[in-house]
Amino acid sequence: MSNIKVAVLNASTVLNDGDVDKVVPALQKQVHRDFAPAWGVDADLVFVPKGSAPPSGAWWLTILDNSDVADALGYHDLTDQGLPLGKVFAGTDLQSGNQWSVTASHELLEMLADPDINLGAYVDQPGGGIKLYAYEVCDPCEADAFGYKIFGFRLSRLVRIVPRNRRHPVRSTGAHHGAVSAPCRRLHRCL
Ligand SMILES: [Zn+2]
Repeated sequence: MSNIKVAVLNASTVLNDGDVDKVVPALQKQVHRDFAPAWGVDADLVFVPKGSAPPSGAWWLTILDNSDVADALGYHDLTDQGLPLGKVFAGTDLQSGNQWSVTASHELLEMLADPDINLGAYVDQPGGGIKLYAYEVCDPCEADAFGYKIFGFRLSRLVRIVPRNRRHPVRSTGAHHGAVSAPCRRLHRCL
C-alpha cells in the first residue's frame, strides 16, 4: 500500500515559510522511523509554500496563528471534502511559551492514527464496566517536557501498542522511550 501524502501548509503570519519548511524533515523522520513501525501507517510529507496549491488528494497539516478553540494548541478535523486536516496554532503556542513543532508533531501523528476520529480501545475496569479511550496517541505524554528532538527540533512523544497477549492486542499501550509506565496512563492532562 502506498504511503499517505500529507501537505504541510503555512497559513500563519508568525512563522515564515523557511521556519516551517526546515521542520518538515524532522517530522518526516519521526513518521518513518518512530510512528510507522508502531502503528502500521506511513506517510510522505511535502511542504507547500504560501501561494502554492497542495497536491490533490493530500491530507493537510496546516500551521495557523491563533486558536479558534479555547485552551487548544491544535486539533485534528476533516476538510469540507472529508479529507483529514490537522490544525496547529503556532501563534497561540508562541504566546503560551510552547514549541509549535511539538504541536505539529502531535496533530500529525494523531491524524495519521485516527484520520476519521472514530477509533478507540476499551479497558475493563476492576469494579466492572469499561472505559473507552480515543486513539489520541500523543495525549498521554503531550507536554513539551516529554518531547524529544530530531534534527534539533523538539517533537511530541507518542504512545505505541505493546501486545501483551493475542486475545487483547490493542489493550496495552506503552510509551515511546518508556515515559508512560502502564496502559492508558496519562503524564499530563489533555487539552
Ligand atoms: Zn491529542
